[in-house]
Formats: sequence, C-alpha cells, structure tokens
Amino acid sequence: MAKGIRELVPEFIRELEPYQPGRPIEEVEREIGMRAVKLASNENPLGPSPKGMEAARAAMTEANRYPDGSGYYLRRALGKRLDISEDQLILGAGSTELIDLLARTLLQPGDDAVASEGSFPVYYISTQATGARLVRTKLAGYDFDLEAMAKAGRGARTKIVFLANPNNPTGRMFTADAFEEFLKEAGEDAVIVLDEAYYEYVERRDYSRSLELVRAGKNVIVLRTFSKVYGLAGMRIGYAAGPAELIGEMNKLRSPFNTSSVAQAAALGALEDKEHVERSVGMNRAGLKQLGRGLEEMGVEYARSVANFLLVEAGQDARPLSAALLRQGIIVRPMAWMGFPNAIRVSVGTAEENGKFLQAMSEASELRKAAGQKGRRE
Ligand SMILES: *Cc1c(COP(=O)(O)O)cnc(C)c1O
Repeated sequence: MAKGIRELVPEFIRELEPYQPGRPIEEVEREIGMRAVKLASNENPLGPSPKGMEAARAAMTEANRYPDGSGYYLRRALGKRLDISEDQLILGAGSTELIDLLARTLLQPGDDAVASEGSFPVYYISTQATGARLVRTKLAGYDFDLEAMAKAGRGARTKIVFLANPNNPTGRMFTADAFEEFLKEAGEDAVIVLDEAYYEYVERRDYSRSLELVRAGKNVIVLRTFSKVYGLAGMRIGYAAGPAELIGEMNKLRSPFNTSSVAQAAALGALEDKEHVERSVGMNRAGLKQLGRGLEEMGVEYARSVANFLLVEAGQDARPLSAALLRQGIIVRPMAWMGFPNAIRVSVGTAEENGKFLQAMSEASELRKAAGQKGRRE
C-alpha cells in the first residue's frame, strides 16, 4: 500500500514554519475594492532602474536560448566594480536562493547554524530544511548580541553564522569595527554569512568593510541583491562574494540555469545606473525622516533604522492595526512571525505613500483611543 505523505516527508521538513510573503497588491485591491499602497516588502518605490529595464527588453529577443548559468558578464562587471576575483562570485535567483544554497552546501543533520532571534526567517528555514539544528541567540533590545553570536559561532558543531547588516526587520546595523571584533571572537571554524541586502542604502561612514575581509581570505561570504535599491525584486537576482573554494562547492549544487538571461541583463544595466541609485537613496533618506517625524508627532515608538523600512511598535498585538491600515488601503506587515508580535514593519515609500501611511496610522490611533474611552465608560 502507498505510504501517506506524512511518512514520506522528513519530520524536520514537516515542522518548518513557512515564509510569509507580503500580500500581492492586486489581491488586496480585489479584496478591499480600492487602490492600495504596498509598503510591505521593502521594494523600491521609484520602480526598476530604467537602464536595467532597457537591457532586459533587449535581452528578451534571445529568450529562446538558455542563459549562461554562471553569468559570466555580470560576474565580470561585479568583479571589476567590487575588486573581487570572478571565481569568488556566484549569482543567485535573489540572495535568498544563495542563503539556501549555502545551507545545502555546508549543513547536514548533526550540524548547527547560528542566527539571532528577530532576524530574517529564510536563515531559519534554510537551516532546518537540511536537518541541521538552528541555534538562535537573543536580541539585545533591537540589536544583535554579537558577543553571544560569536560564542555560539565557536560551538564545536557550528558551521554557519548568519548575520544581516542592517537587520531585517529591525533596520539596525553594527559597525565594521564591531564586526571585526566579532570575527576575532567567533574563531575560524564556521563560515560567517554577512547579508548586506540593504548595503546601498546605508549612509553611515562606520558601516561596512565586508569586501576587504573577503579579499583578505577570511571565512566570510557577503550577500548582496538587485532586489532592493536597484528595484529588480521581480527579476530575482543577487550575488555572493566569498572564498573561491566555497563558491566552487556551491556551484556544484547550483541549479544550472538559476538566474535568467533577462535578469542578468537587467542587473548589468542597473549596476551602471548611478542616477537611479542616487535618486533611490535620496528618496529613502527623505522618507525615513518623514516617517520618523510623523510617528514621533503621534507618540508612536519605532526602531531607528538605516535601511528602507521601519519596525513600528503598536503597543499591543499588532494584527488589528495591520487590519485597520489594510482597510484604508495600506499594506504593511505584521511582525509576529518575525518575532515581534506587537510591531508592524513599514517600508519607506514615495513622499505621497508615506503621507498616506501616516494619515492612516493617525486615524487608526484615533479609533483605538475612542474604543478605549468607550471601553472605560461601559
Ligand atoms: C530582502 C532581503 C534579501 C534579498 O532577497 P532577494 O532574494 O535578493 O530578493 C536578503 N536578505 C534580507 C535580510 C532581506 O531583507
């Protein structure tokens, strides 16, 4: 007799908690019957890089051909731009694919991987999907406890430590100095995955020297993406820079045509689009200020962020706030599944979108106050 699916799927897969993506804007618009503003997935509100789109359109005429799966031209351009050898670079269908590829390359049952609580859930899922054990260190406020992470990194079974800098969903960063201190403490036995998905947005001088560490041959692999500042989230393309030997092993497991020719072309175009990057970073800087000021005026707490989103405290279970915002056409993400049951995460939008979010927040808090007063009277 055929076995049930339950018996066929390993327990460590059945126990996985799935990634919860932001809701597609069309789906929400159908549901609420009005235009919606999506501030839920840290996308670029300016749209894709125009140079990237132009290159993508041109590449489509060759879409009958399989892509160069290794992405030679894009790796060459990245190598030049970043001063990294091409055999130290690998492309992925977004950097999330590379997280998964790293886990599959390095981990097996009996191994540990370390990540912080309140960080990017793909680290947790990709680790557990290999049958390895996930070790989660505590947060210190909104920040990583780098000391605890380094200590866990020295664990006899630890093969990977995942760090997002800045972190999603808190938007917090650690400095280049703090990271080098962490590396010293963590020892040399684990691979340190440094996820810099929001790298281009961070304007702090003390932020990151990650590629210097890669050049120096440290056990550090840096992840970057075209999904955020370059505005190509729908194209699915990102890259990693790390030790050539590790990249070589990852290439054995990489699905042969994991990034499309159109996505590679778009990324090449976008990489040269300095103007789009500068406009995007400028708009984000202004948006962070606008949102921060607006929330402060309402007395709403939030984590100070260097990225393109804010973790906003609701002061109570954040699901009703999320739902109230949704009814006004604003899509944000309730953060319980990322470890913050009392918070939402809002992505920085255009000035107009940020304004609509603030307006909706203020109406939602008026409603809550009114409900509170009613509650007391009764
Ligand atoms: C958005 C994000 C990524 C990038 O995802 P892609 O797969 O490149 O679209 C990676 N890491 C973190 C922490 C992110 O927030």
